[in-house]
Amino acid sequence: MTKNSNELLINNEQAMVCLGKLLAEASQGEGIIFLHGDLGAGKTTFCRGVLTAFGHKGAVKSPTYTLVEPYHVNGQTIYHFDLYRLGDPEELEFIGGRDYFDQKSLCLVEWPSKGKGALPQADMEITLNYNLPGRTALLYAVTDYGQQLVTATVAAYIQQQGD
Ligand code: ADP
Ligand code: MG
Repeated sequence: MTKNSNELLINNEQAMVCLGKLLAEASQGEGIIFLHGDLGAGKTTFCRGVLTAFGHKGAVKSPTYTLVEPYHVNGQTIYHFDLYRLGDPEELEFIGGRDYFDQKSLCLVEWPSKGKGALPQADMEITLNYNLPGRTALLYAVTDYGQQLVTATVAAYIQQQGD
């Protein structure tokens, strides 16, 4: 299967939340998603969209200091990582890094570059870029499952946003 990438225009915060929601709906509650992009690019906003779609109520903030925040909603487990402050990829071992990825869960990883070598392969990688006042999102499939996610998410997004 050919893996390809798709770039979407994400014009405002609400559209970023929508993208997360559509990924959640495509995901069957599992998979590993890497989120690339500078500070402020919208990674956490995207994660909020995912979590809200699963039924999480309340705030979502980057677990910058704890590195990972687990969410258990409606029988579903979602791990939200923010590895920005990870000094060394090996530190992931101390928080039990590997174990998170072995379970039937959805793992959202901000700053995966900081964990290079200590993280499993992603199913799909998303790169957010500034395109002021909005953003762009490049969705890239790594695995076959990731390709399903990209295809379904992009199709649903284009349908919803008419872009
Ligand atoms: P990151 O986690 O990448 O550092 P955040 O998700 O915290 O970024 O978002 C930073 C700011 O960007 C927030 O104020 C958010 O509302 C805004 N934002 C997110 N997505 C978009 C978008 N597509 N267009 C415009 N602003 C956005
Ligand atoms: Mg963040």
